[in-house]
Amino acid sequence: MDYDTYGSNAVELAIDLANTDRDADPTWADAFLRAHDEWFTVDTPLELAPAEARRAAATADLVRAVAVATTQDDVIARLNELLALARPHPYATDHDGELHLHYARPDAPALEQLTTTVAMGLSQVVAQHGWQRLGVCSAENCDDVYVDTSRNASRRYCSNTCASRSTVAAYRARRKV
Ligand SMILES: [Zn+2]
Ligand SMILES: [Zn+2]
Repeated sequence: MDYDTYGSNAVELAIDLANTDRDADPTWADAFLRAHDEWFTVDTPLELAPAEARRAAATADLVRAVAVATTQDDVIARLNELLALARPHPYATDHDGELHLHYARPDAPALEQLTTTVAMGLSQVVAQHGWQRLGVCSAENCDDVYVDTSRNASRRYCSNTCASRSTVAAYRARRKV
């Protein structure tokens, strides 16, 4: 990942949210928040009530809908649906040593911090770099989404794991011929 080009990795929070398995485990949302606690103000309670977890899942679905959209009109409509959930109150911080922006009110509840950061991070990258930077993994049996932050927009896989798995599969397929 070349974060320097993008100035913010809030979009990664959006992508991770969209790619989180939300069916297997009803506590997925709390686990997700704990795994990404650097995006939440210290002392924010990172537990979501069931209704809040459903709203977090709806946000995740919207991020995915933006990433898989194939026309700019669709992208705009879905981004605006996502942005309608956001309550931006940006501020600058260097809590991790690097100056960067946070998008939600620092004392907002966890769900509001999550939806706001995700909506702002995703829409900023789309507005600055184009919605074609978002895509779905080309690996077999994987439909995770990604944001392409490579300089020449050459990304096709969600992860290095999927990229190398696909390279090996293609090599084996060639050898069989
Ligand atoms: Zn931060
Ligand atoms: Zn993948």
